[in-house]
Amino acid sequence: MKLKLISQGAEAKIFLDKSTILKARIPKTYRHPQLDNQIRTRRTRSEAKILTKAHTLNINVPKVLSTNKFDIQLEHIEGDKLSETLNSYPEKKQFETLQKLGEQTALLHKNNIIHGDLTTSNTILSNNKVFLIDFGLGFISTKIEDKAVDLHLIKQALEAKHFQNHKELFEQFTKGYRWTDSKKILERLKIVEKRGRYKH
Ligand code: AMP
Repeated sequence: MKLKLISQGAEAKIFLDKSTILKARIPKTYRHPQLDNQIRTRRTRSEAKILTKAHTLNINVPKVLSTNKFDIQLEHIEGDKLSETLNSYPEKKQFETLQKLGEQTALLHKNNIIHGDLTTSNTILSNNKVFLIDFGLGFISTKIEDKAVDLHLIKQALEAKHFQNHKELFEQFTKGYRWTDSKKILERLKIVEKRGRYKH
């Protein structure tokens, strides 16, 4: 195996080996080793479980190939990371992509999966499909509030990184985000946003 380090985040190192990604949770020296061990094991297990559930439901996420204590081996999704490429697409492609992202998010939420870090950095366009990656902060919840916070995160990401036309982009997202509870969640989003503004 010839591993190539492709990303180093606060939580994990990501290695690429041909068509396989290895996500290895790294130790935090400021934590007590035993506690650190527990936290990393729990997060690894939780992320693998959520990804497996989403994949079984035919949601576009990388397939989990194997796991052990601190590592997950994942299918490599080859394509465009939207945080880097979205702005350079023609408008039609930008809108279609956001609609597809909305559709994938609706599927997650319909199945009570919360992404927890829904941004364009965690979305890859591959063969005309939008994939969601990095479920490290993901969890299961039936709460309207938790789903609205996911929408708040993607809306903020669009405002920050794709500011030229962020309003239209979010509108396209909501076109794809249509399911039984979407109206309720979009209503709750307004409350979440108001609360966010008071904080600053
Ligand atoms: P993560 O820590 O899971 O957010 O991964 C960090 C970076 O590694 C991502 O922003 C992607 O660029 C890349 N990455 C992680 N998982 C995958 C995957 N399954 N396929 C392709 N790229 C990935």
